[in-house]
Amino acid sequence: MASVTEQTSETYGIENWGSDYFGVNRKGNLIVRAPENDNYTADVKEIIDDLRKRGVNTPILLRFPQLLFGQIRKLQSAFKKSIKEFEYNGGHLCVFPMKVNSNRAVIEEYLREGTRHNFGLEAGSKAELYAALGVDQAKDSLLVLNGFKDRDFVNLAFAGAMAGKNVVIVIEKMSELDHTLDIAAKFAKEAPEAPLPMVGVRVKLYSKGSGKWEKSGGEAAKFGLTTTEILEVIRRLQEAGRIDMLKLLHFHIGSQLTDIKRIKNAMKEAARTYAKIIKMKIPIEYLDVGGGMAVDYDGSRTSFESSANYNAQEFANDVIYVIKNVCDDENVEHPTIIQESGRYLSAYHAMLVTNVQDEIETVVESLSEMEMTKDDPQIVQELHDLREGVNGKNYREYYHDALENRDELFTMFNLGLISLEAKGKGEVLFWDICEKADQFAQQKKYVAEEFDELRQLMCVKYLANFSVFRSMPDNWALEQLFPIVPIHKLNKKPSEYATLCDITCDSDGIVDKFVDLHDVKPVLELHTLVKGESYYLAMMLVGAYQEVMGNNHNLFGVPHEAHVFIGEDGYIIKKVVYGATLGDAVASVRFEPGQLQDTFRRAVLQRIKEGKLSNDEGSKAIRFYEDQVESYTYLTPNGK
Ligand SMILES: *Cc1c(COP(=O)(O)O)cnc(C)c1O
Repeated sequence: MASVTEQTSETYGIENWGSDYFGVNRKGNLIVRAPENDNYTADVKEIIDDLRKRGVNTPILLRFPQLLFGQIRKLQSAFKKSIKEFEYNGGHLCVFPMKVNSNRAVIEEYLREGTRHNFGLEAGSKAELYAALGVDQAKDSLLVLNGFKDRDFVNLAFAGAMAGKNVVIVIEKMSELDHTLDIAAKFAKEAPEAPLPMVGVRVKLYSKGSGKWEKSGGEAAKFGLTTTEILEVIRRLQEAGRIDMLKLLHFHIGSQLTDIKRIKNAMKEAARTYAKIIKMKIPIEYLDVGGGMAVDYDGSRTSFESSANYNAQEFANDVIYVIKNVCDDENVEHPTIIQESGRYLSAYHAMLVTNVQDEIETVVESLSEMEMTKDDPQIVQELHDLREGVNGKNYREYYHDALENRDELFTMFNLGLISLEAKGKGEVLFWDICEKADQFAQQKKYVAEEFDELRQLMCVKYLANFSVFRSMPDNWALEQLFPIVPIHKLNKKPSEYATLCDITCDSDGIVDKFVDLHDVKPVLELHTLVKGESYYLAMMLVGAYQEVMGNNHNLFGVPHEAHVFIGEDGYIIKKVVYGATLGDAVASVRFEPGQLQDTFRRAVLQRIKEGKLSNDEGSKAIRFYEDQVESYTYLTPNGK
């Protein structure tokens, strides 16, 4: 028999999606393991208790930089192994796409570990490039520039080359080549010794990816040059005597690529293009295979949107094997492979922990002592009889009868035939029958689909202290799944089926799809809330895209953030970065807190002048309003 802890761990799928980074300790708390040493663990509940003692309230984004390091090493060693196994003659380098998580802490931690493997950065906008130019990278790492570029963007790239960076301007549009050649010509005149950036071309592949971002590849893709355009780039570079600038061929067929077969096809096509260009005696060195390595969010190892049917080693093997084969066939040298994986590297390192504030009552509680009287209308009597009679043999039939009776109840009420009390009584009885029928249904081996729907109808709604729009926007926008786990009580069997509501005033601010090995769960197994006791949930694997895509809906600003190191003696909180205050939140939409306070003060003083408020009360109100400017935008306990 599996222990309760093992069972709950399975309920949440921790072993499936956790990539060995997460587990449950003897106290029943969620732990994070240091990738370099399984015996070093951090107890997430202890971290949160500690932070709350310091006045840092949930929601809190916890960052574990070691998991970022772990992913970097996993990817690096997977490629190293494939390169050796298949006797591949080129190298493998990564550039981290800043759009995935451009937070300074993430970029700096990435570079700390990445530098040891000559991993660099990828920037897709002027602002990202601006940040990239101001941080130190390994001397031999690349700085790859994608995205649409104006003249300033290209100028910044040249400035980067002067600062010693190995900048690659990837041409997405002809006008970018115009700027590049033009600026290069200027340099030739004014500073002939200055190092120049390299040039790459992004090729539009016929092959498409799979999953949500399928449209990023294929002929209709937004980015990339057609074959004719690439030949034109080559011709123009040759004409300008600059063909030696062309060093890289790039493609990217989308994010969260779920199907390894599609990836292989794209690799074949790109490798063939690379080989043909080499045969034109153009010394390209790098084949940039883009990002797209998927994260198995639901742990199912399938080609489902929130999963992936391959792991890092399989991915590396396929990339290396396919490119080697094509190159050998064409008799050209193996290129150095550049990878732009962002999601894979950064998803694991961050989790958002928050408290369940409350339960939103939807189902009327059972009134066991509710008395039936002989004045109750026939329809209520019938529902009562169903409730009394439902058992393990008849529960389906009785449930169907109850559904019909409930319809009739509403019809009769609308026609004015029964009282409000009778309607209320009927509803209570109906939900009682549902609950009983559900209990009988769940005892059976095969639960009919209608009872799954019933479960959804009957589940409790937990009010979680966070904003989906701020902290899990892809769940709202793309129905992307993220694992959600309680950080404690994992040694107790959960007894409720719940969906989550966030604290925004938006009816879209809910989570009602949860990871499951075989399907998508409409409800999540959670523990009963205990009065006076906090119940905490962690939204896992939110380190990629969620922070940068998160928006300001309802002016919930960024949550508090803590950076945690895991060592021999457990966790060490390295740094706390405070989240948004009310002042920050209003300032983000260009209100000035000082001005708001002036206006508020004037309004209160006016009331005092009119004799409608005492001096004392008025000053208190003003002081309270002014103090609140420093408070957290999320729900806080005891007005703290
Ligand atoms: C978004 C993007 C990436 C990152 O993709 P992931 O799926 O996060 O690995 C890489 N390259 C380019 C060009 C991108 O636009």
